Amino acid sequence: MSEAQEHLKCVIIGSGPAGYTAAVYAARANLSPVVYTGKEPGGQLMITTDVENYPGYPEGVMGPQMMDDFRKQAERFGTEVRYELIDKVDLSGPVHKLWTDSGKEVHADTVIISTGASAKWLGLKSEQRLTNKGVSACAVCDGFFFRGMEVAVVGGGDTAAEEATYLAKLCPKVHLLVRRDEMRASKIMQERVMKTENIIVHWNTEAKEVLGEEEVTGVKVINNKNQEETILPVKGFFVAIGHKPNTDIFKDWLEMDDTGYLVTQNGSTKTNIEGVFASGDAQDNVYRQAVTAAGTGCMAALDAERYLVEKGII
Ligand code: NDP
Repeated sequence: MSEAQEHLKCVIIGSGPAGYTAAVYAARANLSPVVYTGKEPGGQLMITTDVENYPGYPEGVMGPQMMDDFRKQAERFGTEVRYELIDKVDLSGPVHKLWTDSGKEVHADTVIISTGASAKWLGLKSEQRLTNKGVSACAVCDGFFFRGMEVAVVGGGDTAAEEATYLAKLCPKVHLLVRRDEMRASKIMQERVMKTENIIVHWNTEAKEVLGEEEVTGVKVINNKNQEETILPVKGFFVAIGHKPNTDIFKDWLEMDDTGYLVTQNGSTKTNIEGVFASGDAQDNVYRQAVTAAGTGCMAALDAERYLVEKGII
């Protein structure tokens, strides 16, 4: 006899602040949520050190500790956490089908997507080695630790422009490394960069190697026009060349923008498919903070609960 198909009221895909907050709310609403953690349980905060801008932690907290607290809080109310990856979905509904990478199929009345986004990296060995030791992909998260120090930012888009202007308030000198002779950033952001005296823009410049053993001591850059190499004596190296939302498995089903961010209906977490909700960085390319992700996770659980009531499922 074949095993009965598992049917859940609420499946949450992803285990960052959005996913676990959705789980806390969904569990407290008796939706018996199941969280699929994905490949990186805890999400991007697992690769940060001190989190000092999450309200409620006056002394700050380590990223992994915070995510452990989030998970425990979700489990306390009956959330089941599965350390598995969902790698295929069929959202034709009304019951949505999901498959784990080991081929197990689960059915769900509601799906909350909180798969997050991943920062893009240059791919240098030295960059990888010095991540969290001076190399960062988030100025708002880590800039504070470099106040009073010289830093570099890589990128020519709005994120790089924003990170450079943010850091310029904390650091005496910010080197902005732009690989072409122009920036992709919006006019207004470019103007802001040009007007900031302590931002030095290096055109046609690429980072070749981040220097240092236990911490960043500099960066070797190359001018790709004349091949001239220079060492910039920076202590912080910020990579701001874009993020990629982890939404590939939804592309046949859900509306997304050109970069892959899920589109939600104004003021809610509803996607174009009934019973499927999106929260956190997978649908946010503007704020991208743990606290905003948690906020939209809460919204997604409330939206899912309302949907289940409207459909008479609970
Ligand atoms: P973008 O894709 O817009 O820009 C990426 C930048 O990084 C480009 O300048 C690109 O160079 C450069 N780059 C990419 N790969 C490399 C590499 N390997 N080495 C060196 N440089 C590299 O990403 P953003 O994160 O800046 O922005 C994403 C979206 O979010 C955009 O739509 C943006 O407008 C929006 N945004 C809006 C903000 C706001 O309005 N306040 C703030 C932040 C983002 P090249 O140009 O040569 O390809």
